[in-house]
Amino acid sequence: KGERLRLPPWLKTEIPIGKNYNKLKNTLRDLNLHTVCEEARCPNIGECWGGGEHGTATATIMLMGDTCTRGCRFCSVKTARRPPPLDPDEPYNTAKAIAAWGLDYVVLTSVDRDDIVDGGAEHIAKTVSNLKERNSHILVECLTPDFRGDLTAVEKIAQSGLDVYAHNVETVRELQRQVRDPRANFDQSISVLRHAKAVKPEVLTKTSIMLGLGETEQQIHNTMTELREAGVDCLTLGQYMQPTKRHLKVEEYVTPERFAHWEEAGKEMGFIYTASGPLVRSSYKAGTQTHTQVHY
Ligand code: SF4
Ligand code: SF4
Repeated sequence: KGERLRLPPWLKTEIPIGKNYNKLKNTLRDLNLHTVCEEARCPNIGECWGGGEHGTATATIMLMGDTCTRGCRFCSVKTARRPPPLDPDEPYNTAKAIAAWGLDYVVLTSVDRDDIVDGGAEHIAKTVSNLKERNSHILVECLTPDFRGDLTAVEKIAQSGLDVYAHNVETVRELQRQVRDPRANFDQSISVLRHAKAVKPEVLTKTSIMLGLGETEQQIHNTMTELREAGVDCLTLGQYMQPTKRHLKVEEYVTPERFAHWEEAGKEMGFIYTASGPLVRSSYKAGTQTHTQVHY
């Protein structure tokens, strides 16, 4: 402990760029969309935007501004008690821009807005319904806050017309307090996922866990079991990367072999899909992963 770990070779590899990448990159400029892909300098951008072999172009768009009311210890998004108010035109304008952009699959995510009565649920739901009205073929995933456990807010999103309801538990049950903002916790997140599934069983539910924060293998196993018991359909596991020196340190670089082990374990537990690898992010090639399942 104390010293920073060296970056292992499997995190230094180049990721291929798919064929739609340049097209999307060139048309983005005029649309005034804020993609997490670009802002977080996500290493998967060439593959996600490019659509890989199967041509399912995926991107992640950030709604409700760039300032969060929470301060999770792994996250580099800036924090304020009272971020600027929501832009009431955002649901309409964003939907219009996304529909024009040429994506097959979009992940709508947001900061947490504990300063707003419904946490922004109505705002997110409106964005989805506007988008689906314009383009019914685009698959929509919402990666939502926990809404402080407000199940009415969860229901609003679940009924908005989306295809995948995602909410991240981020880490194993035992490390929640060290890793996430104190307002978040495992049971609250589980109740969000459970409720989304109960309200709308045909919507896929999805969550994500970062590895390398000091969790044990038994804890990973138990957390996956609990998620499955809550009816979570899809799971992603990826390596935690420290965004700045002020953030939580990486305790371990989990090997690609161990990630492969968890992918296998996820399949055996009955998740519809499990994506697990050092560079997997919750939205990693989400379109390609989810495409076939959503159409059943
Ligand atoms: Fe970052 Fe989300 Fe935590 Fe806000 S709630 S600090 S955006 S991880
Ligand atoms: Fe964008 Fe997510 Fe793909 Fe990264 S993994 S490029 S954030 S869609």
